[in-house]
Amino acid sequence: MVYNGHTRTCGLIGNPVEHTYSPLMHNYLAEETNINMVYVPFLVDADKVEEAVKGAFALNLLGCNVTVPHKSAVIPYLVDVDPLAKRIGAVNTLVRQENGFKGYNTDMPGLYRAMCKDGVDPKGQDCLILGAGGVARAVAVMLADKEAQSICILNRTYERAAEIAAEINEMTGRELAKAMLLSEYINLPEDKKYIAIQATTVGMHPNVDNAIIEADDFYKRLQVAYDLIYRPGETLFMKLARKNGVKACNGVGMLVYQGIISYELWNNIHVSDEEAEILCRLITEALGV
Ligand code: NAP
Repeated sequence: MVYNGHTRTCGLIGNPVEHTYSPLMHNYLAEETNINMVYVPFLVDADKVEEAVKGAFALNLLGCNVTVPHKSAVIPYLVDVDPLAKRIGAVNTLVRQENGFKGYNTDMPGLYRAMCKDGVDPKGQDCLILGAGGVARAVAVMLADKEAQSICILNRTYERAAEIAAEINEMTGRELAKAMLLSEYINLPEDKKYIAIQATTVGMHPNVDNAIIEADDFYKRLQVAYDLIYRPGETLFMKLARKNGVKACNGVGMLVYQGIISYELWNNIHVSDEEAEILCRLITEALGV
């Protein structure tokens, strides 16, 4: 890529940003799709979020990604927020408009697109979410949006799961979601085959010998197991699922598709699943997993 006076800039606002794979992804996509764009990390302190968003617009940036801890903090400084990002309460992508940036959440559409590529559609399916943190909450919103048949949120701390379930039920106006303690999985009917999404930090590098639930009879209740962790590439949760004959996927697909959707929003193009597959391999290699 030759950078010149027409080069557009995008970047990542967060703290820390040193660990990011987004520059690799977006600069690769720019090269592959022949778009004169460069992507760089921007380390932004919590008390500088407003200045960063306004400054990025003033500097004519095409767009930005936003990562922890600023995904909610940027919202007051945007001219518009996409309805899904509003429901999730977190923005990870800023797209330039005439008078400022519009905020989107591409994490959950990213997970959904990764699932679709794997031939998994939550519509009409019984789903389990393991965990009740920020990502689990967003997953619950996505599953409700995609018309899951039921959503069961299992967490170590019951109250956090109950809070998300109540929000989802209020949002949808029906008893779609319920909360359970992790140990209560044994009460799940054995004749159902659930889509499970592992959204806790358990099993993440370096604690690779842990899984959120280790009993085989849990995995026997699943049709597919998604671990949102991407390091290691095969978590113990995934190993246990596979041992019990269940298809298992890691979080690389979500990571790659959230980036792709941001890139598509900035450049108004479509990135194919074949290109996404190449990118997944590239990121997997870079992660060394
Ligand atoms: P978070 O808000 O910190 O939530 C952590 C969750 O893990 C909580 O439900 C917590 O339960 C549970 N947990 C932590 N330690 C536990 C333990 N020892 N035993 C049982 N439960 C435990 O985290 P988050 O931001 O939602 O992130 C969740 C996961 O998503 C992370 O693994 C992250 O790597 C992954 N992620 C993936 C992508 C991607 O692109 N693939 C993007 C973002 C995040 P309590 O409520 O009981 O504390």
